[in-house]
Amino acid sequence: MRLLLATLSHETNTFSPVPTKLDRFCRNGTTLLGGQAAIDFYRGTGTCMGGYLAVAEELRAEVVVPLCASAPPSGPVDSDAYETFCRMITDAVAQGGYDALWLDLHGAMVTESFDDGEGELLRRIRAIDPHTPLCVAYDMHANVYDAMVGNVQIVTGYQTYPHIDQRQTAERAARALVRVIRGEVTPTAAWGTAPMLPHVMAQGTHQAPNRDLQALCAAWEARGRALAASLFVGFPHADVEMAGLSAVVVTDNDPAAAQAMVDELLSAAWTERRAFMFDIEPLEASVRRAKALGGGPGQLPVILLDHYDNCASGGTMDTTDTLREIIRQELDDVAFFGIYDRDAVRQAIEAGVGATVTLSIGAKLKMPQLPVSSAPLEVTGVVQTISSGSFRLKGGLTPGLQIYMGTTVVLDIGKVQVVLLSRHIEPTAQEMLQVLGIDPARKKFVAIKSRVHWRADLGKIAREIVECAGVGVCTSDYGQLTFRKVRRPVFPLDPELRWNYPA
Ligand SMILES: [Zn+2]
Repeated sequence: MRLLLATLSHETNTFSPVPTKLDRFCRNGTTLLGGQAAIDFYRGTGTCMGGYLAVAEELRAEVVVPLCASAPPSGPVDSDAYETFCRMITDAVAQGGYDALWLDLHGAMVTESFDDGEGELLRRIRAIDPHTPLCVAYDMHANVYDAMVGNVQIVTGYQTYPHIDQRQTAERAARALVRVIRGEVTPTAAWGTAPMLPHVMAQGTHQAPNRDLQALCAAWEARGRALAASLFVGFPHADVEMAGLSAVVVTDNDPAAAQAMVDELLSAAWTERRAFMFDIEPLEASVRRAKALGGGPGQLPVILLDHYDNCASGGTMDTTDTLREIIRQELDDVAFFGIYDRDAVRQAIEAGVGATVTLSIGAKLKMPQLPVSSAPLEVTGVVQTISSGSFRLKGGLTPGLQIYMGTTVVLDIGKVQVVLLSRHIEPTAQEMLQVLGIDPARKKFVAIKSRVHWRADLGKIAREIVECAGVGVCTSDYGQLTFRKVRRPVFPLDPELRWNYPA
């Protein structure tokens, strides 16, 4: 068996000012992965490509890997970069001779030219090769367009958020497609969408309603009712027509059953639309509440979530408002991860470990699509750690994956250890702090720019959780965002929307 495997993954926050050029897709900032280097990088990891490679190995298949490109969320993908990526994949498709095409795509990629980056890629692939069986593993945050389903035999989506089933999602797609190739099943898909933008802070599968919706999908697959069933919560920080919740179900030659399951998922999600919302607490009040919850020696920390500025949803990771409030209210024994500021990192390195420095940190990336802004914060502290920021993750979201945080500095400003970063990375695992000499389990407070993925590992040490509404392009206040292209009416932008499904 001969297989083509490729990854092209980007979650685009159309409100983000962070540019998305080709180098953002390079693993260490300089190397775009493909071929044997990609295979070596991903084999054995808890990623989609890791899952595809594992199934391919079981089948003793020959694999061709033209590209494995994934980047942290940010603004629309640069057109030249997108064209380069598409060409690398379509050139390989054009060589032909494959039994199947296995793709790992995000599903919410917007480029400077295309609102549906994945659909456009799939259209181009099908223009070259209309027939070779094709599967796609999508992220649960996919904003689904017709071309993302219509050109594909098997669609799977993550069933966990935090996404700890990336590897399994690809394995499910690959195994189902193998049954197609062997003629054991005839895939038929149905899909639909509900006019709702579930709030990211209410999408986690640690809680209802998404936990129950995903369990329904998994149960249908386990019982054989569906070859693949997926509920996509969608990515709301994208001003594109199809942003929002959708469902895709693939059955063995039973279109009516596929449609019935899509209908059941959509109507259940719509019924729970208010549970998919999130209540905002003012920043001053949330930090005061966190301070009161702070424990003593031997107690696990209070986790403060600076969730408006989560870089894994397109945040600049350099707004300072939550950190400023933590300092103002004099919380002590705090680890803050982190502020993205390459200049500050450079200045700290020039001063050296042990030196006392005064730095103006953060707020260097302007956010023109927000009505509010952040301001630089002047801090004085001791340079405690300088790290390459490179290590292999043992657990968390993607076990086994080599992580590149970029050159990283810990600045001890007295009551707070501030992590200064030179690459965008969401703090999800205790290891990310441990490699910097900080044991998060022993801190009184751990403040992180994360929304849900931190639960994959840092969640294990959370005694209390306090959400902090700082400043950032992942704002939970939709009133701060101007939507122009998203379909209307849509809940909650149109809170009184009545929608009867199926119509
Ligand atoms: Zn996601």
